[in-house]
Amino acid sequence: MSGKTTPMMEQYHALKQQAEGCLLFYRMGDFFELFFDDAKQAASILDIALTARGKDSGDPVPMCGVPVHAAEGYLARLIKAGCRVAIAEQVETPEQAKQRAKREGTPSSKALVKRDIVRFVTAGTLTEEALLEPRRANMLAAVCEVRGSIGIASCDISTGRMVLESCDPGNLHAALARVGASEIITPDDWAGRLEDTISRPKSDFGSDDGERRLKTLHEVKTLDGFGDFDRAMLAAAGGLISYLEHVGRGDLPLLLPPRVRAGESQLSMDEATRASLEILTSQQGGRQGSLIAAIDRCVTGAGARQLADDLSAPLCDMAAISGRLALVHYLHQDPLLRADLRDVLRLLPDIGRALGRVVAGRGSPRDLGQIRDGLAEARRVRDFLSHKPDRPVLLESLLPLMGGHGALVDLMQRALVAAPPTERQNGGFIAEGYDASLDELRQVSGNARRAIAALEARYRDDTGIASLKIKHNGVLGYFIEVPARHADTLMAPDSGFTHRQTMKGAVRFNSLSLHEEAGRISEAGGHALAAEEEHFEMLAAQVVAARQEIAATADALSRIDVSAGQAERAAEGDWCRPQISEDTVLAIVGGRHPVVEAALAQAGDRFVANDCTLVPEDRLWLIGGPNMGGKSTFLRQNALIVLLAQAGGYVPAESAQIGLVDRLFSRVGASDNLARGRSTFMVEMVETAAILSQATDRSFVILDEVGRGTSTYDGLALAWAVVEAVHENNRCRCLFATHYHELSRLADRCDALSLHHVRAREWKGDLVLLHELANGPADRSYGLAVARLAGISKQVVARAKSVLDKLEKGRAKTGGLAAGLGDLPLFAAVQADDDEPGDPVREKLSELDIDALSPREALEILYEIKRAAEST
Ligand code: ADP
Repeated sequence: MSGKTTPMMEQYHALKQQAEGCLLFYRMGDFFELFFDDAKQAASILDIALTARGKDSGDPVPMCGVPVHAAEGYLARLIKAGCRVAIAEQVETPEQAKQRAKREGTPSSKALVKRDIVRFVTAGTLTEEALLEPRRANMLAAVCEVRGSIGIASCDISTGRMVLESCDPGNLHAALARVGASEIITPDDWAGRLEDTISRPKSDFGSDDGERRLKTLHEVKTLDGFGDFDRAMLAAAGGLISYLEHVGRGDLPLLLPPRVRAGESQLSMDEATRASLEILTSQQGGRQGSLIAAIDRCVTGAGARQLADDLSAPLCDMAAISGRLALVHYLHQDPLLRADLRDVLRLLPDIGRALGRVVAGRGSPRDLGQIRDGLAEARRVRDFLSHKPDRPVLLESLLPLMGGHGALVDLMQRALVAAPPTERQNGGFIAEGYDASLDELRQVSGNARRAIAALEARYRDDTGIASLKIKHNGVLGYFIEVPARHADTLMAPDSGFTHRQTMKGAVRFNSLSLHEEAGRISEAGGHALAAEEEHFEMLAAQVVAARQEIAATADALSRIDVSAGQAERAAEGDWCRPQISEDTVLAIVGGRHPVVEAALAQAGDRFVANDCTLVPEDRLWLIGGPNMGGKSTFLRQNALIVLLAQAGGYVPAESAQIGLVDRLFSRVGASDNLARGRSTFMVEMVETAAILSQATDRSFVILDEVGRGTSTYDGLALAWAVVEAVHENNRCRCLFATHYHELSRLADRCDALSLHHVRAREWKGDLVLLHELANGPADRSYGLAVARLAGISKQVVARAKSVLDKLEKGRAKTGGLAAGLGDLPLFAAVQADDDEPGDPVREKLSELDIDALSPREALEILYEIKRAAEST
């Protein structure tokens, strides 16, 4: 291969090296260009043309580009597709490059504009309005381990909220599932421990360093005022902040003082439980069909994000839950107040995200305008609410956070125009009357503009050319233009016009007067822009200084929006205020499943409400009945009611008494989890094992057809053992749905277990599912009837029926599938046996693989066993 690398390509390669695996957006004029593999990848994701440019080392260079003004949309798609992007901007003008070349003694034709990576755009570090979903937080998390404890630092940099927590390595996945980060950072020695993470140098994750950074950032001598942070949390915070510094090339985004996520005051749920309850996303992956989609009535994006946070981390603390419930109640019982309040909130701009952009140095005049309007609106909300009587405690504590910005709001109201633009460089956002010298500059350029208009009229008169125009463009500035056929008049040496450019069909001129007026405009304009820029900086600095108070205001408004939304939802669906207690009762009357109910309502069907009453003496319900009978729905609705209640909201039921749940578990037998490369049955068992080891007597567990993922005998045996273990060991409240009839025998042996079923009736040969829960065991299995219902042909069902009859006859002879199960010793007794010193002879025998023994070995072992037997 021949050929050489051009200076530009050299510069490109150097920048690409710094981009560390990100796509490199290389600024060239009005485009960001991508080269080589980056170009191929981006062209296919964005579906844009892949071209080639020149040659590098003899080969054509693949290239594609996106226009700078439309870059945000393309960035959004690349980020969605899982890419990270480094933006290399031109950091000097071509003019500056030429002068530099001259100073350095290189020919100016070779001068290459200097470029630098000014920013990394990654999924977790977005602040742009266009790239964020208004109703979803965008989380970035850093994870590390310090002496056996996992530290997690997470933040939503679009609003600056930062949370630190620590947990045991075993709970890492559950914690990360709760955070739901779109980008996770780990130290480089974690390679392979978590999937899809960004590796950063281990040295970034020092706890001393993290502590120091947090102190500097928030200008405090000690972090005690923010919370009690352990080493693992601080180390994770260190990793997070260094990464943010890295992607911002030294600039930090908005970071509010960190808060500790206190594990014990929260309802804990693991990854599988979250997925199966479809809290924020449905099993299909979208928001549609999820719990939040069915209950979210927030009128602001910030409220919706707060609600998502509440649902991801329900509380486990009586006082905190009651506080939230009292506020929902307050807004529930006064529909007029609620409607008025929601009308006001609806107008609120997203203060939190505007603040995030301003602090990150990417704020626009429009962001300042939003903060101004949002804060002014907050004061109105406060004034409105403070006239209402009997305010609940939580509201009382929120009101003071919503005022207090008087001076700042006043300043911004005077300084900014009503609707400031999103672009900062063209000015036009500082209001008239705010700065006298700015007004004067504007007047000068206004006058000069008028003078130019007058000049145009005069020149037309003087020359008699009616089509003469004074125009403006970026290259020439102001000029006089006439059609080519009139050019001679102005070309005359004594005409007072000087020729500038000949175009096809038109000729352009300058004149002394025009030059003077144009000079005035550009000078005054330049000064005016500089003045506006200065005002912007000053206003932004004031906002940055007040960031904590502004964020607190935004949070207070979100809380009010969430509560009003919950009250609204409750009113719509006739929901009730749950009674929270410290005991282990779960008594729900007329409970419903919010998602299924909404789906049925759309189809014009009615949801059948069901009761659930778990008390210490009757805490495990075994639920049978036909497939499609409503077992899963019943299980989940009760779990969701617990979750909603502990998130501090009303619940879809007539009444609900909920003894605080410490851990919530939901398992569905053999759910489709092949994507992760484990067999479904394996997954089912791993997940069930977690329950058996973690559920306490304060937990609530729903198990749906556990044991389904394997053969009948295995499955029944496992289901049997799991029920026994839950009953005897965990002693938690539990709903267990199963199609194994045989399990009903457990009712005789487990005194806190009772049998229930979903009702069905056969009517004229058709199965009617009543979706109604009743006491007692299911009378029989309805598999064939369900198959018929599902559209399996009559012939196949009839054939199945005859096979079934045969099977059942055979079973009757041997005593049935579960024959003999009743004679098993109780689970507790088995466990006691396990603790006894084992019988060596039995042990030896049970280890033997007889088929693998040679006769000689067998004889040897026989001697051994005889010896052992004689010695005991
Ligand atoms: P199972 O777990 O017993 O197979 P599901 O809970 O999956 O049954 O319910 C099957 C379907 O029956 C649901 O998709 C829903 O349409 C309907 N259904 C379930 N419970 C109810 C109910 N309580 N009222 C009305 N329809 C229900």
